[in-house]
Formats: sequence, structure tokens, C-alpha cells
Amino acid sequence: DQPRTARDTAVFDLIAQEAERQKHGLELIASENFTSAAVREAQGSVLTNKYAEGYPGKRWYGGCEVVDQIEQLAIDRVKQLFGAEWANVQPHSGSSANLAVYNALIEPGDTVLGMDLSHGGHLTHGNKANFSGMRYQMVAYQLNQETERIDMEEVRRLAHEHKPKMIIAGASAYSRVIDFAAFREVADEVGAILFADIAHIAGLIAAGEHPNALPHAHVVASTTHKTLRGPRGGIILSNDEEIAKQLDRTVFPGYQGGPLEHVIAGKAVAFGEALQPEFKQYARQIIRNAQALAGEFQGKGYRIVSGGTDNHLFLLDLRPQGLNGTKATKLLDANHITISKSTLPYDTERIMHGGGIRIGTPAVTTRGMTEQHMPRIADLIDRALKGEDVKAEVHEFAGGFPLP
Ligand code: PLP
Repeated sequence: DQPRTARDTAVFDLIAQEAERQKHGLELIASENFTSAAVREAQGSVLTNKYAEGYPGKRWYGGCEVVDQIEQLAIDRVKQLFGAEWANVQPHSGSSANLAVYNALIEPGDTVLGMDLSHGGHLTHGNKANFSGMRYQMVAYQLNQETERIDMEEVRRLAHEHKPKMIIAGASAYSRVIDFAAFREVADEVGAILFADIAHIAGLIAAGEHPNALPHAHVVASTTHKTLRGPRGGIILSNDEEIAKQLDRTVFPGYQGGPLEHVIAGKAVAFGEALQPEFKQYARQIIRNAQALAGEFQGKGYRIVSGGTDNHLFLLDLRPQGLNGTKATKLLDANHITISKSTLPYDTERIMHGGGIRIGTPAVTTRGMTEQHMPRIADLIDRALKGEDVKAEVHEFAGGFPLP
């Protein structure tokens, strides 16, 4: 390590500021988490110096005997975690993993059926500003207006009407169980590929706290940095030999060059952690916390989309409070409570503001918070939304929970 004085203080002082921000704030962004020191150590290691184009045992560069073993460990562990026969751990992000899936399995212009972004889907599921919406004929399914849940009959109707080549099951802002088996039934009826994007719920699936997407989906992609609590990155899984071959070729040499072996080492460490019994406890606690927190808000008169949650997040409809996502984010940010604004199913607010916020418990659960701490979080958020200054209380409360 370089002595502190030889460091680029401009950068390292900012990193120190960010560490302080994370320590004193209340992190409720559903897609964020706190990685272990071991994950960060692997990611900040000498592995970043190494080129390793190709796959373990089949590289274009010399000196890959060590990184081969690291990447193989990551592959073996993630296969075990999700019961997959094949895995690619090289995608640099969730979006890159999704791009590879589209590129490998369908042609530009083909029809794809995915969840509407404003109902909880992801940009890569067909938004016009994204490659998915630009390159493919996207058809979106929306949630049932009454239940605010996925309506499999509506998915089936759209699938039969539009005959998509691929159906996407997965979301960024959906608080209910996704029935992958039902999606596969519909996919089989119309001869479509079922692509499960489990980015948000991967940690819950790994822990057995949400039904697995495999063996139902033909292909599964995920991020590694949300509930799975690894470094930022992507993975792709499949049990289909042909799809696996096609995807390996698409990731490299298709559109990526050298894999990030330091990130892959971080992934291997995170997968190892997720295989431990404690991770099951962790995932269970995330859900208990989300349910307890949603309940607290309901007790205070707030409306929760779909009336509750089965997973790590829920959506708070703030229109009855005369707020929207943008206004709420500002009020909470000023008090060092971080959430993300969100559109709601059948929203009446402008999309850029969104009618509410998305609240997730993976990060606060990593800090050791349990159901007994949720009333305090709900109280702080409620008061901040009413314009009160609760920053000092947030600092004192969050500061009592150590970061990994
Ligand atoms: N898929 C889903 C469902 C997501 O929620 C996200 C991230 O928000 C992604 C893909 C993309 O991941 P990344 O931000 O790593 O590109």
C-alpha cells in the first residue's frame, strides 16, 4: 500500500466522504447493499492488472493460471447457488447481461413481451430510450389495476395476440412473488423463450426465500450487487446446452473484451457467502423487515401498492399526501434517508416525478436492523415527509449499526 501522503488526496478524500455518508445515512434504496470487507478486498486487489480474454482454460493471454481458478470458483459456486448447469460470470453489469441475452437468442425486429417500465419493469425490458426498445418490437404487460399484481391471464392474452420470440419475467419495482412456472407455461403455448431477469430478487432466490427461476426459464440473468450482496456486476445462467454455447460466444468475443477478474473474484467471495446458512437468515430477515416496515406505514395511513410485500421492497403511494416521487426524494435526501422515486401502476403523476417512492430493506438488514427497528425508520420517514428536520436523529440512529 502507498503511504497516505502519496495518495491522490482529491479522490481519497471524496471516498472518505462517501464512507461517512454511508455510515450516517439510512440506506433504503431497494437495489443497494453493503458488501463484506472480503468482497471489497477481492475487488480492490492485484487482479485488476490481469488481461484474460476467453474463458478458464481457453484464454488468449499468458499467465492466466491463477485467474482461471478464480473464475472457475465463481462459476462453480453460482451454479450451486441457483441449481444451474451452466453459468457465465463475465458480464460487467446487469444491463450487459441482458444485452447478451437479447443478442444471443433473438434477432433485431423480433417481438418481445416484458413488464411495462412504469409498472415495475426495467429499462432493458423494452423502454424506448434503451437498446431493447430501439432494436426490438416490444409489447408491455401491465399489472392488474385492482390487485396491482401481475395478471397471468393478461400476459397469456398478449402472448397469444403478439406471438413474441421472448417473454421476460422479472422487475425492478414489484413487491410480489413472480410465478416463473406460470410464465413458462405461457411461453410454451406460443413457442417463446422465457428469460427471467432476477436482478432484484437473486439473493432471496439463492436463500430459498423466493421460488427459483430455474428450471422454468430457458435463460436467467441477474446483477450481483443487490440482494445478492456482491460487487457490481452481472451473471447469466441456463440449463440449456445450446443457449449456453450461444451466450458464451455472445459475451466473449461477441461484445466484451477482457473480463474484470477482480470483480469476478468479488463475485466468487459473495457467492461463497451466499452459500452459508447465515445468508438464509439474512434473506429471511430482509423480507420480515420489509413486511414490518410496510405495516408501520399502513398504520400511519399510507397506501402501499398491492397492499403489502412478499419480498425486499414495497412502493409507497404518496399522491394522497400531496407529494410525488421527486418532492419526497428531496425531503428525505435532506435528512440523509435515501430511497428512489418510483412511478406507480396506472400513475397519475408525470413519469419524471412518479407518484411515490420505492423502499427496500436489504441494506439496513445487512447493518443488523430487525423488525423492532422498523417503527423508528417509519417514524423518521413520516416526519421528514411532513417537513420536519430529523437529520440529527437519523445520524444517531444509523450510527448505532456498524457497517461491514
Ligand atoms: N435488471 C433489473 C430487473 C434491474 O433492476 C437492473 C438494475 O436496476 C438491471 C437489470 C440492470 O443492472 P445494472 O444497473 O447493473 O446495469
